[in-house]
Amino acid sequence: MIFFVFPYIYRMNFTIFSDEHFMKLALQQAHLALEQDEIPVGAIVVCQNQIIARAFNRTEALQDVTAHAEILALTTATEYLGSKYLTDCTLYVTLEPCVMCAGALKWAQLDRLVFGASDEKEGFMRYGKELLHPQTKIEMGLLEEPCSQLLKDFFKSKRALSKLK
Ligand SMILES: [Zn+2]
Repeated sequence: MIFFVFPYIYRMNFTIFSDEHFMKLALQQAHLALEQDEIPVGAIVVCQNQIIARAFNRTEALQDVTAHAEILALTTATEYLGSKYLTDCTLYVTLEPCVMCAGALKWAQLDRLVFGASDEKEGFMRYGKELLHPQTKIEMGLLEEPCSQLLKDFFKSKRALSKLK
Protein backbone atom coordinates (compact mmCIF):
# COMPACT_ATOMS: atom_id res chain seq x y z
CA MET A 1 0.00 0.00 0.00
CA ILE A 2 2.71 2.40 0.98
CA PHE A 3 4.20 2.12 -2.50
CA PHE A 4 1.04 3.52 -3.98
CA VAL A 5 0.85 6.40 -1.55
CA PHE A 6 4.42 7.67 -1.91
CA PRO A 7 4.22 8.96 -5.46
CA TYR A 8 1.16 11.00 -4.55
CA ILE A 9 2.87 12.56 -1.56
CA TYR A 10 5.85 13.37 -3.70
CA ARG A 11 3.70 14.99 -6.34
CA MET A 12 1.80 17.02 -3.75
CA ASN A 13 5.01 18.36 -2.25
CA PHE A 14 6.22 19.24 -5.66
CA THR A 15 3.15 21.42 -6.21
CA ILE A 16 3.15 22.95 -2.75
CA PHE A 17 6.79 23.92 -2.88
CA SER A 18 6.90 25.18 -6.44
CA ASP A 19 8.26 28.60 -7.33
CA GLU A 20 4.88 29.49 -8.74
CA HIS A 21 3.17 28.67 -5.45
CA PHE A 22 5.50 30.95 -3.51
CA MET A 23 5.21 33.73 -6.08
CA LYS A 24 1.43 33.56 -5.72
CA LEU A 25 1.90 34.13 -1.99
CA ALA A 26 4.13 37.12 -2.76
CA LEU A 27 1.33 38.38 -5.01
CA GLN A 28 -1.08 38.04 -2.10
CA GLN A 29 1.24 40.31 -0.12
CA ALA A 30 1.21 42.79 -2.99
CA HIS A 31 -2.59 42.79 -2.84
CA LEU A 32 -2.40 43.60 0.88
CA ALA A 33 -0.20 46.58 -0.01
CA LEU A 34 -2.78 47.70 -2.54
CA GLU A 35 -5.53 47.55 0.08
CA GLN A 36 -3.49 50.00 2.14
CA ASP A 37 -2.89 52.28 -0.81
CA GLU A 38 0.79 51.36 -1.01
CA ILE A 39 2.59 50.63 -4.28
CA PRO A 40 1.65 46.95 -4.64
CA VAL A 41 4.84 44.98 -4.22
CA GLY A 42 5.00 41.83 -2.09
CA ALA A 43 7.80 39.53 -0.99
CA ILE A 44 8.22 36.12 0.63
CA VAL A 45 11.37 34.50 2.01
CA VAL A 46 11.55 30.72 1.89
CA CYS A 47 14.13 28.63 3.70
CA GLN A 48 14.12 24.86 3.16
CA ASN A 49 10.56 24.96 1.86
CA GLN A 50 9.37 26.91 4.86
CA ILE A 51 8.09 30.47 4.65
CA ILE A 52 10.03 32.51 7.18
CA ALA A 53 8.97 36.00 6.15
CA ARG A 54 6.14 37.76 4.34
CA ALA A 55 6.12 41.46 3.68
CA PHE A 56 4.73 44.16 1.45
CA ASN A 57 5.83 47.65 0.60
CA ARG A 58 5.04 50.07 3.44
CA THR A 59 6.81 53.27 2.44
CA GLU A 60 3.64 55.35 2.95
CA ALA A 61 2.53 53.86 6.27
CA LEU A 62 6.00 54.13 7.78
CA GLN A 63 6.94 57.28 5.85
CA ASP A 64 10.20 55.55 5.16
CA VAL A 65 11.71 55.31 1.68
CA THR A 66 13.61 52.18 2.71
CA ALA A 67 10.46 50.25 3.70
CA HIS A 68 10.41 48.24 0.48
CA ALA A 69 8.92 44.73 0.64
CA GLU A 70 12.35 43.13 0.18
CA ILE A 71 13.96 45.07 3.03
CA LEU A 72 11.11 44.30 5.43
CA ALA A 73 11.13 40.62 4.40
CA LEU A 74 14.89 40.45 4.82
CA THR A 75 14.73 41.95 8.33
CA THR A 76 11.99 39.52 9.37
CA ALA A 77 13.86 36.54 7.88
CA THR A 78 17.18 37.35 9.56
CA GLU A 79 15.42 37.91 12.88
CA TYR A 80 13.70 34.53 12.51
CA LEU A 81 16.95 32.76 11.66
CA GLY A 82 19.02 34.64 14.21
CA SER A 83 21.56 35.17 11.46
CA LYS A 84 22.29 38.10 9.19
CA TYR A 85 22.90 35.79 6.22
CA LEU A 86 20.29 34.24 3.95
CA THR A 87 22.60 31.74 2.29
CA ASP A 88 19.91 29.01 2.34
CA CYS A 89 17.00 31.23 1.36
CA THR A 90 15.03 32.18 -1.71
CA LEU A 91 13.38 35.58 -1.91
CA TYR A 92 10.27 35.81 -4.08
CA VAL A 93 9.30 39.33 -4.98
CA THR A 94 6.64 40.54 -7.40
CA LEU A 95 8.79 43.34 -8.83
CA GLU A 96 12.46 43.44 -9.82
CA PRO A 97 14.35 44.80 -6.81
CA CYS A 98 15.76 48.33 -6.91
CA VAL A 99 19.44 49.09 -6.44
CA MET A 100 19.00 49.65 -2.69
CA CYS A 101 17.32 46.27 -2.21
CA ALA A 102 19.83 44.49 -4.45
CA GLY A 103 22.59 45.94 -2.26
CA ALA A 104 20.88 44.69 0.90
CA LEU A 105 20.36 41.24 -0.64
CA LYS A 106 24.03 41.17 -1.55
CA TRP A 107 25.06 41.82 2.05
CA ALA A 108 22.66 39.08 3.15
CA GLN A 109 24.34 36.68 0.67
CA LEU A 110 20.94 35.53 -0.56
CA ASP A 111 21.00 32.09 -2.19
CA ARG A 112 18.33 32.71 -4.80
CA LEU A 113 16.22 35.59 -6.07
CA VAL A 114 12.98 35.05 -8.01
CA PHE A 115 11.13 38.08 -9.26
CA GLY A 116 8.00 38.65 -11.34
CA ALA A 117 7.69 41.94 -13.20
CA SER A 118 10.72 43.75 -14.59
CA ASP A 119 11.35 47.36 -13.66
CA GLU A 120 13.18 49.00 -16.52
CA LYS A 121 13.41 52.35 -14.77
CA GLU A 122 14.33 51.49 -11.19
CA GLY A 123 15.35 47.82 -11.37
CA PHE A 124 18.88 46.71 -10.50
CA MET A 125 19.34 44.65 -13.68
CA ARG A 126 20.15 47.71 -15.77
CA TYR A 127 23.33 47.96 -13.69
CA GLY A 128 23.94 44.24 -14.00
CA LYS A 129 23.47 41.25 -11.75
CA GLU A 130 26.91 42.02 -10.29
CA LEU A 131 25.03 44.16 -7.77
CA LEU A 132 23.97 40.91 -6.11
CA HIS A 133 26.26 38.47 -4.34
CA PRO A 134 28.21 36.31 -6.84
CA GLN A 135 26.58 33.18 -5.34
CA THR A 136 23.01 34.44 -5.78
CA LYS A 137 21.05 32.66 -8.49
CA ILE A 138 18.44 34.73 -10.32
CA GLU A 139 15.18 33.81 -11.96
CA MET A 140 13.04 36.48 -13.55
CA GLY A 141 9.66 36.84 -15.16
CA LEU A 142 7.76 34.34 -13.00
CA LEU A 143 4.05 35.28 -13.09
CA GLU A 144 5.16 38.51 -14.71
CA GLU A 145 1.71 39.26 -16.11
CA PRO A 146 -0.31 39.43 -12.87
CA CYS A 147 2.62 41.05 -11.03
CA SER A 148 2.96 43.89 -13.51
CA GLN A 149 -0.79 44.25 -14.12
CA LEU A 150 -1.32 44.98 -10.44
CA LEU A 151 1.23 47.82 -10.61
CA LYS A 152 -0.19 49.18 -13.88
CA ASP A 153 -3.70 49.26 -12.43
CA PHE A 154 -2.43 50.99 -9.29
CA PHE A 155 -0.66 53.78 -11.17
CA LYS A 156 -3.55 54.13 -13.61
CA SER A 157 -6.01 54.73 -10.77
CA LYS A 158 -3.55 57.16 -9.14
CA ARG A 159 -3.36 59.16 -12.36
CA ALA A 160 -7.14 59.14 -12.71
CA LEU A 161 -7.49 60.41 -9.13
CA SER A 162 -4.96 63.19 -9.62
CA LYS A 163 -6.89 64.39 -12.67
CA LEU A 164 -10.05 64.68 -10.56
CA LYS A 165 -8.32 66.89 -8.01
ZN1 LIG B 1 13.77 48.27 -3.30
